[in-house]
Amino acid sequence: MKKYNFSPGPAKLNSSVIETIDQNILEYDNTGISILEISHRSDSFDEILTKTKENLSNLLTIPKNYKILFLQGGATFHNTFIANNINEKMQTTNLITGTWGEKTYEDFSKIRNTHKMKLKNSQIKEFLKDYPTKKIKNTDYVHITSNETIEGVQLREFHKIDNNLIIDSSSDIGSYKFDWQNVAYIYAGAQKNLGIPGVTISIIREDFIEQNENSTYLNLSKLIDKDSLLNTPPTFSIYVLKLVTDWMLNAGGIEYFEKQSKDHSDAVYSMLSKYSDHVSLPVDEYARSKMNVVFNFKNEKIEKLFLKESLENNIIGIKGHRSVGGIRISLYNSIDKSAVEYLLKFMSSFFEKL
Ligand code: PMP
Repeated sequence: MKKYNFSPGPAKLNSSVIETIDQNILEYDNTGISILEISHRSDSFDEILTKTKENLSNLLTIPKNYKILFLQGGATFHNTFIANNINEKMQTTNLITGTWGEKTYEDFSKIRNTHKMKLKNSQIKEFLKDYPTKKIKNTDYVHITSNETIEGVQLREFHKIDNNLIIDSSSDIGSYKFDWQNVAYIYAGAQKNLGIPGVTISIIREDFIEQNENSTYLNLSKLIDKDSLLNTPPTFSIYVLKLVTDWMLNAGGIEYFEKQSKDHSDAVYSMLSKYSDHVSLPVDEYARSKMNVVFNFKNEKIEKLFLKESLENNIIGIKGHRSVGGIRISLYNSIDKSAVEYLLKFMSSFFEKL
């Protein structure tokens, strides 16, 4: 039975990607072995690595003065990794707009002194208003989370923050074009818009990379020198990242997915606004995520019924995060128009019955 998977991640993959994986698990590219078995030192993997970086560069228009690194440990490892690779003389600020930013702050502050700055979703618009003069004072690097997956809060116009930015873009990378001007370091787990768990993509401006005495897997400059091959990389996850980025480029690149996420999220938010007698949207319009649409039913019993009936209709992954409750519909790149239409049809018939 086909399921409509709106999960927050690991997320749906396009079916053409799964079909290619299926074939290559049996045998990869006439090598006589499975993709699961290829050595990270083989020519085949060298080609995959080179092509994956090329795809990311094309997709995200990465400027020449940035390095791409593939690591394990998820976005969570980056809290420790990045905090350990910023010179201790540098000042950092964690600008927090939700749960993941809060977690990053907690880890950063175990490793280094860092300033905390918290913004409610309703304050984001005002905060970014004074562009281009919005500079957070006395700080060398500002950490932000471009999309707070749990609360459905997106800080898309981060180019308006006139500081060197370190960005956790785990849940919105590859869904819109952004300005690289202030980006010192951007990272994302692949498992939402770009593939499966196991690989985290880091894109790092060269001036951020300093030599230090950190141990092997915490040593950014050594990992960069070895081009993601200092130890065994997550070969299969990188290979899936290559397939997903191939698929995205063929589909029309970032412009295509930017438009798609706008169209899809607009359609869902506008249906919810229509039924505002029954549901509330906790995020101010300006900061509403185009990736994770979060809402609450005013009546708990109706919310339970909505979840029950969604499952009966083969819609999965829409229960809100346990820390905030409610409903969360994730509209990552692999969610196509027909899936959104199916969801909207279900929602509208549910609301009309109330
Ligand atoms: N940051 C964000 C924005 C996330 O959505 C997540 C995972 N949902 C994380 C960090 C943690 O990522 P990981 O599980 O890859 O460590």
